[in-house]
Amino acid sequence: MANSFFTHLECSSGCGAGPFDPRESHFLCPSCKLPLLARYDLKAAQSWKKESLVGRAPTMWRYREMMPLLDGDEPVTLGEGFTPLIHAKRLGATLGLDRLLIKDESLNPTNTFKARGLSAAISRAKALGATTVFLPTAGNAGNAAAAYAAAAGMKCEVFIPNDAKQPFVDECRLYGAHVTLVEGLITDAGRVATEKGKPLGWYEVSTFREPGRCEGKKTMGYELAEQLGWTLPDWIIYPTGGGTGLVGMVKAFEELEAIGWLAKMPRPKMVSVQPEGCAPIVRAFENGAETAGTWEHAHTVADGLRVPRAIADFLILRGIRESGGTAVAVSDAQMVADMLAIGSQEGVSAAPEGGATLSAIRKLVADGRIKKHETVVLFNTGGALKYFDVLRS
Ligand SMILES: *Cc1c(COP(=O)(O)O)cnc(C)c1O
Repeated sequence: MANSFFTHLECSSGCGAGPFDPRESHFLCPSCKLPLLARYDLKAAQSWKKESLVGRAPTMWRYREMMPLLDGDEPVTLGEGFTPLIHAKRLGATLGLDRLLIKDESLNPTNTFKARGLSAAISRAKALGATTVFLPTAGNAGNAAAAYAAAAGMKCEVFIPNDAKQPFVDECRLYGAHVTLVEGLITDAGRVATEKGKPLGWYEVSTFREPGRCEGKKTMGYELAEQLGWTLPDWIIYPTGGGTGLVGMVKAFEELEAIGWLAKMPRPKMVSVQPEGCAPIVRAFENGAETAGTWEHAHTVADGLRVPRAIADFLILRGIRESGGTAVAVSDAQMVADMLAIGSQEGVSAAPEGGATLSAIRKLVADGRIKKHETVVLFNTGGALKYFDVLRS
């Protein structure tokens, strides 16, 4: 039986509050209202050897020791993670790249990488005795929350913008969730959700307001390292909404180095990709700002990227800058064209968010930033199935 190295939660802002007890429910830092992050006994974890992974199930829970559950807690799992890392030779050739890799997250339960974050968050909710979980969502997080809540035997309350695509709403209901349609964007859905859910004692599983979401997505960093034989790529191209995956992967590389699984080596350059119609991180990056503020009149076909304000903006921007990466805005038309490019040249089903990463790579290759021999990982964060309307229009 695996031992957990999870010890406590800590404020990400360095405000000095805490540490916070892992056996209690915690959401934002009570003092500065910024995200808490899970912390582990990294010294003790040096005794954990990567050879122990051999023979473990190919899911993200193979890294159980560095997940936010305590000894004896059971994960709620549907087989998420350990997705294929595909060498996209044909697509790479059209761009002049030798090693373009696609991390195909569309093969997760509910068709996106949101499964990782929600598997972790709902596992923690269950361990803490929650019976109803709630969250605001642009769509995919709601689908994953609904599925994992069903698997855990919990109730799920989803708050979603009323202009969300119908498949997102239908899939929440398929898993037995209760859906509330909210006028406005995900930030408005968040406000309504909190007003309703907090007084009723529901357990919140929103991005970065709940610390397990980031831990689930950090497993993408563990997997990349394992799948590349404990090396790292030169570039990671990540479509950014709330930024959980980007922040999570940076955290993963720090942890892997601290426990001795990765030698000291240059970290991947992290690239945030956002749509031109909602690019708060790109704007802040270009302005040299430490936080991003709110993007007005956010609009894009990439629902997962229609996030006008990211509560972890400062962590995203720090992750990009400390890695020597960058932030790129792309048009909706280009990302839709690139869904088709990924599909027709590699046989991979890409959401517009996945297409957007290819659009960003085109720009970075054209600018001479990405070089021919470098290893570039494109994150296809979801599949095309729930977005077919954008191909028709
Ligand atoms: C949510 C979502 C994103 C953005 O992920 P973050 O970690 O919140 O930045 C990207 N792609 C898809 C398909 C999504 O559902």
